[in-house]
Amino acid sequence: KTYLEQIKANIHLNVFNEVFEDEAIASAKAVDVRIQAGEHMGKLAGMVIAIKDNICYKDHKVSASSKILENFTSIYSSTVVERLLAEDAIIIGRCNCDEFAMGAANENSYYGPVKNYADETRVSGGSSGGSAVAVQAGMCHAAIGTDTGGSVRQPAAFCGVVGFKPTYGRISRHGIISYASSFDQVGPLTQSVEDAALLLEVLAGPDEFDSTLSGKPVPQASSVKKESGKKRIAYLQESLSSPGVDLEIKASLTTYIDKLRADGHTVESISFDLLDYLVPTYYILAMAEASSNLARYDGVHYGYRSPNATDLTSTYKLSRSEGFGKEVKRRIMLGTFVLSAGYYDAYYAKAQKVRRLIQQKTNEILNEYDFLLTPAAPEPAFALGLKEHDPVVTYLYDIFTVQASLAGVPAISLPAGNNAKGLPLGLQLLTKSFGETELLNFSEYFL
Ligand code: GLN
Repeated sequence: KTYLEQIKANIHLNVFNEVFEDEAIASAKAVDVRIQAGEHMGKLAGMVIAIKDNICYKDHKVSASSKILENFTSIYSSTVVERLLAEDAIIIGRCNCDEFAMGAANENSYYGPVKNYADETRVSGGSSGGSAVAVQAGMCHAAIGTDTGGSVRQPAAFCGVVGFKPTYGRISRHGIISYASSFDQVGPLTQSVEDAALLLEVLAGPDEFDSTLSGKPVPQASSVKKESGKKRIAYLQESLSSPGVDLEIKASLTTYIDKLRADGHTVESISFDLLDYLVPTYYILAMAEASSNLARYDGVHYGYRSPNATDLTSTYKLSRSEGFGKEVKRRIMLGTFVLSAGYYDAYYAKAQKVRRLIQQKTNEILNEYDFLLTPAAPEPAFALGLKEHDPVVTYLYDIFTVQASLAGVPAISLPAGNNAKGLPLGLQLLTKSFGETELLNFSEYFL
């Protein structure tokens, strides 16, 4: 009830696309009755969770914040929802996000932008902006987002919460509306590292519906504890030298570097010579995959069908033209372009090769160091509407988050205090594939 009241008191922040009010109250009561009866309860008993609106939940609407799926009801549940429910979580609603998770400010939603609870004139970050503000504003205990190129970590940083993207292959993508399948990962947004660890334990592990999942043992939340060992940490020299990084973010990073050194850790500056290629490589590949994934929205199989269509071709054309927003169309066109005959080798195939290099170099760094420390984003939350006019400016904002996505390694965004205006700042830590336990252990250092 407290969470529902907080949602109602802040309805103008536009955090939820739908609140499952009666259902959440009923599940909370049912959980309570079972606890009173002394039943053995699941690991999330009583935990109130919000889910991003691109996560399928049987018999519930799921829209990916797009007009094209406005009235679409899911006929099955994603593996993550099934695992949450199996552990007695209470799902409170579906959160606003960028349309098909394409964006970094939650300004590309059909339902309008999500406002930051710390300053309502500013963006929440994206694409899991609703999930981040739901946690920031105390509208739920924790939220589930998806991260393709930073969509859990960057809004977490803008909102001062923990945002965790596990290794690619840790958590099932079954029932997640696809954006770019070789990058898409589910991740929790939480108030604490312990909660992130608990949700990882519940959500991770093999699933017959997602063949990319690893059979490696699932990290147990109980094994997460504050690390006392001395670590080797690298940071990107450019994060302190680049004029594109906000001064207060640099200052916060410097403070942490000094503190880590004073505590006996080794912290070294490195230069990543593929830095300039991160954003172009990510966007070529993500858009290519998106153009293919979004071909299924044809006005016939799913969702919106234009009432003005008269034949098959106009059904496709009008349904897609009227159903998709501007940014989604831009990406479908660019993705189709880089995959088309004559351009495939120059763009798509080349980007695949560069991705491989980025993976190799990132793994080399993470073999030499325990962690790579970077800002989560180059600036804190910016004013609503400020960057909407130039998509490339927004794409460049992903500079620090896409490396972990391209390499498939785990990364976490941690709150690192506020700037002089009271806006949250975030730091990011990356580590080796499947090194989640070490990552979560060391994260406690920062909180
Ligand atoms: N901002 C990035 C993009 O728009 C990342 C989005 C995401 O992780 N879903 O593609």
